[in-house]
Amino acid sequence: MAKEKEEQVTNCPACKKHLLKAKKYYRNGQYFCNKNCWVKMNKEAKAGSTEETES
Ligand SMILES: [Zn+2]
Repeated sequence: MAKEKEEQVTNCPACKKHLLKAKKYYRNGQYFCNKNCWVKMNKEAKAGSTEETES
């Protein structure tokens, strides 16, 4: 018996945890569990880019 109605579960891209509806930190088109995870993801993204765009 397969579940047809699958709930959309959002995972935090930083820590891979399931995000609860009430606890979402939305930034740059992505959902994180909190600001820390967003900052962490941001740092990783910046570290991956070779170009520095500081103004
Ligand atoms: Zn997280």
